[in-house]
Amino acid sequence: MVFESLSEKLQNALSKLKGKGKLSEKDVDLAMREVKLALLEADVNYKVVKDFIDKVKVRAVGSEVMESLTPGQQVIKIVNEELTNLMGEKAEKINTSPIPPTVILMCGLQGAGKTTTAGKLAYNLKKQNKKPLLVACDVYRPAAIKQLEVVGERVEVPVFSMGNKNNPVDIAKAAVEYGKKNSHDFIIIDTAGRLHIDETLMKELKNIYDSVKPQEVLLVVDAMTGQDAVNVAETFNDMLEITGIILTKLDGDARGGAALSIRSVTGKPIKFIGMGEKLDQLEPFHPDRMASRILG
Ligand code: GDP
Repeated sequence: MVFESLSEKLQNALSKLKGKGKLSEKDVDLAMREVKLALLEADVNYKVVKDFIDKVKVRAVGSEVMESLTPGQQVIKIVNEELTNLMGEKAEKINTSPIPPTVILMCGLQGAGKTTTAGKLAYNLKKQNKKPLLVACDVYRPAAIKQLEVVGERVEVPVFSMGNKNNPVDIAKAAVEYGKKNSHDFIIIDTAGRLHIDETLMKELKNIYDSVKPQEVLLVVDAMTGQDAVNVAETFNDMLEITGIILTKLDGDARGGAALSIRSVTGKPIKFIGMGEKLDQLEPFHPDRMASRILG
């Protein structure tokens, strides 16, 4: 399980403070050194770790803790709050258009889980009695359209496709028109991914963006890739102005660094997490719950 090792190390570091009736600055320093190491080992971005530790330390040696009857507990509470802040404070919902349909552009590198996640999102919306439409705009990868159609069938959501002879901008535009006519309230556009970020991919995404003006640009990134996921997010965000992140494969044994760094580095919220290959395994991301889960 993700965060297992981090969780264990943090709990261990903080448990030493728990029973103490009084804390010295040295006690806090020692514990924070362990916390810092644990975060770095979990592949959290170095600057994020440094800022985090500085914040916790300032609060931990302040009167809120030192004058408390249970200072150890107070420090744990602070670590919990700052971990939550790191991941974005509160859960963030999907941006919607005041006039339906809401257009969601899914982007990301190949293999991140984009197509699967598009299906999961459609399923999630369907369960809320919405009427989503999936759109196949990956015209390059053989079988990409078929894959989306299979996913659509499984979640019983229609898939708009025009084969692979048309260009993705025209497909996206036609899909929005189709969606409007058929009273779909969410249009989820699956786009092509590449193994690496390249100019052609970005240009194409930008062209789709400009032609359909989505309310959401959701970047799908693979948590297993750690800091690479953070770098990918930073680059996409610079070029495209993403509105949210979906972190996939958090059910695996990712160390968790991406989940803890990506918000601070990009300023963009994680909106959902992928917790498995099945189409019902997408969860809204709750920073506070994740922090509590990490701290046990
Ligand atoms: P795309 O190339 O970005 O469209 O990626 P796909 O949707 O084809 O997914 C790539 C692989 O990742 C597939 O085998 C998916 O089943 C798998 N996958 C996607 N999301 C998750 C997840 O949250 N957890 C796990 N364990 N696997 C996932």
